[in-house]
Amino acid sequence: MIDYDAIVIGGGINGIAAASMLSSKGKSVVIIEQQSELGGMAAHKREGPTAAHLLWNLNPKVIKDLGLGSISFDDLTSVDTICVCESGNHIRVKNSGAFYLDGRVVDTDGSFRKLTNRLSRYGVLLKKLAENAPFGTDDKLNSTQDILRLLRFGLSLKLLGKSQMRKFLQDILMNVSDFLLDDLPDGPLAGLLSADATRGQFSGPRNPGTVFNLVYRYGHGCELTRPTKGMENFFELLVNAIKKLNVDVKTHVRAEKIVIEEDAVKGVELADGTTVFSNTVLCSSGLNSMKKMVGISYLDIEDSRSIKNLRTMGTTAKVNLKLSKLPIFENIKGPINDCRFIVAPSVDYVDNAFNSCKYGHFSQTPVSESVFTFRQSEFWLSSIIQFVPSKLEGGWNEAAREHLKQVLVHSLSAFIPSLNELIVDFEVITPNDFAEDLGVEGGNWHHSEMSLDQIFNLRPTPRFSAYRAGPKGLYLCGSSSHPGGDIMGLSGRNAAIRVLRNTK
Ligand SMILES: Cc1cc2nc3c(=O)[nH]c(=O)nc-3n(C[C@H](O)[C@H](O)[C@H](O)COP(=O)(O)OP(=O)(O)OC[C@H]3O[C@@H](n4cnc5c(N)ncnc54)[C@H](O)[C@@H]3O)c2cc1C
Repeated sequence: MIDYDAIVIGGGINGIAAASMLSSKGKSVVIIEQQSELGGMAAHKREGPTAAHLLWNLNPKVIKDLGLGSISFDDLTSVDTICVCESGNHIRVKNSGAFYLDGRVVDTDGSFRKLTNRLSRYGVLLKKLAENAPFGTDDKLNSTQDILRLLRFGLSLKLLGKSQMRKFLQDILMNVSDFLLDDLPDGPLAGLLSADATRGQFSGPRNPGTVFNLVYRYGHGCELTRPTKGMENFFELLVNAIKKLNVDVKTHVRAEKIVIEEDAVKGVELADGTTVFSNTVLCSSGLNSMKKMVGISYLDIEDSRSIKNLRTMGTTAKVNLKLSKLPIFENIKGPINDCRFIVAPSVDYVDNAFNSCKYGHFSQTPVSESVFTFRQSEFWLSSIIQFVPSKLEGGWNEAAREHLKQVLVHSLSAFIPSLNELIVDFEVITPNDFAEDLGVEGGNWHHSEMSLDQIFNLRPTPRFSAYRAGPKGLYLCGSSSHPGGDIMGLSGRNAAIRVLRNTK
């Protein structure tokens, strides 16, 4: 008995994107989500605001599949960056230009703007690759579509011009420290870009390939947005959209086992004892949790080993500080919640913070990205702290959480001197908390590290890069697949396209 054309395990952005694509093509689909609401890691919350606070690269095609074509105009607000400087000379980055808060231009020779424009040009190329399965994942380059795509990509490289093309290929593999310091002095602007390149990663700015990560992050042209009415409202919008598309949603129930007969998927057994039937299952959980649901005997030994060897260390914590009132910033024009505040005063500072993480500690001088959020008449300062290891030496206990909060507050006090007195409550959510709640090993931002050996055709593993895994009918649709994480939705969309092609 077949109930659905497809079952999607996990209702994060990629599960939602996969389900909407399949449903818009007339397939009957159900999403199984263990949390009480959809939204996954991005929407994960305790008392305070959600884990994700900004939209990096939300893909217009995903929004269109959901039938929300006009979302970019009505519901998203563009966000400026404030680079916090100990000297008090904070810098505002807006539309790729950098200004002191009194309006003076920072980079009078225009080198920062030229650099960010170069990154945007590169981003356009990567975006083309991100919106499709990696080349040749249909075992070989055999479809006309694949060949045309490859030719088009070759042409766009060629159109860069010979020297620019050579430069692109050289730059993309570089470490972001060398790349930035070729053009910029080491200071807050170089610090900002190196922090953006390494957020969510277990790599420091001197690791090879971190330019790729920076281009990936700026993939849609350096414009950063936030949902105007908040992240929770944004996910509500997506959930309503998939319900309109007739996708069934089962929340608060865990998928326990993927049912397999004669090496083909037959459905999913749920923790409440029921079974949902389908010949197609798309899984957006972490790969180790997929392996448990499938059962090791249904995976090739080589594949099991590749999954075990994936690098999945989580390095991002969220600290939410509830404030009695909003601090006053006389020199910041415009609404304060339309800004993100970055503490990363130099590349060296970012590299030092990474060094602590390498040895199982978090830095006493952390790299952070903070936003002010208003929720139900409460004020929160919500921070993402980088380089906070899931495998903390001594383990994650209350003292370690309190200590992490203290180092954050200390580093932000250069900017908000009264911060300590304003805090009425706080919560610290560690990478391990994300791992436990969501079934994502290490609580890794991208489910597995976005490093040169785990991208494109190598993502998540060379044999699973076509979104297919193990028994017939099983697909991977989470951010461990190409192109990776952020609130982008392309791993889910690409996987759904693959399902549609294979079931024609
Ligand atoms: C602290 C932090 C802050 C972040 N901030 C941002 C940000 O500001 N902007 C941004 O763009 N990105 C941000 N990210 C990254 C972003 O959240 C992820 O890249 C994105 O959520 C990945 O989406 P996904 O759908 O692939 O996976 P997930 O969001 O992890 O969704 C997977 C879903 O599967 C469910 N699941 C797993 N196993 C089962 C099972 N057995 N049964 C049922 N359900 C199951 C989980 O509960 C989860 O809901 C942040 C990440 C972290 C950790």
